[in-house]
Amino acid sequence: MTYSDAESASREELRALQDDRLAETVAHAYENVPHYRNALDEAGVSPDDIESVEDVSKLPFTTKEDFRDNYPDGMFAVPRAELQRIHASSGTTGKPKIVGYTGSDLGVWREVMARSLSAAGVEPEHVVQNAYGYGLFTGGLGFHDGVEELGACVIPVGGGNTARQIDMLQDLESDVLSCTPSYCLYLAEAMEERGLDPKDLPLSTVIIGAEPFTDPMREEIEEALDVTAVDVYGLSEIIGPGVSIECADAQDGLHVWEDHFYPEVVDPETGEPLPEGEEGELVITSLTKEALPVLRYRTGDMTTLNYGRCDCGRTMVRMGNVTGRADDLLIVRGVNVYPSQIEEVMVDLDAVAPHYRIDLRRDGQLDRMEITVEYHEDFDDSPHELRERIQERLREILEVKPDTLEVVEPGALERTEVGKVKRVYDHR
Ligand SMILES: [Zn+2]
Repeated sequence: MTYSDAESASREELRALQDDRLAETVAHAYENVPHYRNALDEAGVSPDDIESVEDVSKLPFTTKEDFRDNYPDGMFAVPRAELQRIHASSGTTGKPKIVGYTGSDLGVWREVMARSLSAAGVEPEHVVQNAYGYGLFTGGLGFHDGVEELGACVIPVGGGNTARQIDMLQDLESDVLSCTPSYCLYLAEAMEERGLDPKDLPLSTVIIGAEPFTDPMREEIEEALDVTAVDVYGLSEIIGPGVSIECADAQDGLHVWEDHFYPEVVDPETGEPLPEGEEGELVITSLTKEALPVLRYRTGDMTTLNYGRCDCGRTMVRMGNVTGRADDLLIVRGVNVYPSQIEEVMVDLDAVAPHYRIDLRRDGQLDRMEITVEYHEDFDDSPHELRERIQERLREILEVKPDTLEVVEPGALERTEVGKVKRVYDHR
């Protein structure tokens, strides 16, 4: 059973809907946003040239720089009076990206979040503890509205506040927890420190997102809390959380709500669209947004698309779990390194906790890569031998050897209680 019929519409029906909505979106953006009018004129594309989603690659890309250049609200396609909500996405540097919603946009957001929660296994009788940050960040209110739309009960705890978080999980018997994957593990650790067993919680599902993570990391979370961990994806520039989610039935890729968001995967270097199944950068075009239509937004997230039918009966395309960002790519002594490769090694070795950091420095002309990992509490071998094992595994995976590899005590690395975890420190 799906939350809405659209989720299992035939590919033909869906395609016809996308064709119409894309043409409307392009016309709307062209007429109302000077940035898009200029960009399309410059590319020599008229809204009349866009008749179906096959024409989408004629459109120019939109980037985060475009949001920056048009700060605060130059990307908006409606007058202020029509807005009902404004959020902002955290920029790591400089000004945030400001995003706005009309009443209809908020309705779409609630709908896609309710669908997402339902696909994750949330039922109207469930209690959902929402540990995403409230405020300008879209995570908190996005989940909040979706839970209410679905008819379930939301506890708006927000980010951090770990002691209260644990009390609520126990005392209010939350069925579902939504938070970042790193916070999920932090909570489990914090419970163990208090002499509590996280497996004893009534929790059945955690919905994790807002940070890239690998499959071994997910398994670690499922094991630590004895739950099903479902991956949710979204970004403020497109709408917030709820762009796509895994179904709990298959846990095999995230269904993109294609009637509202049109996904492509492109080569991050050349921008050329890639065939189904090949990994590249996710690009999304909004199909129903009023306040902030977005044409071919370069998300920076690396993924694949799979149009094969899913066991759950949903017909909507699935994107792979995002394990890294195009701009996460580290170039160390001329060799490409993704932090997710290192994470996989760490989480695969049972003796190592899923906590690590990578420091990159410049030593004269040479790059230095320093990796620090924590060993697991239950580990009782010598750290020296563990180091050897990690070195060996890293050699198999990476073409570049870390200059130092330090194995430290459990809890020695700093934890992230609020916001997104930081694992790479590039001092170069
Ligand atoms: Zn499915």
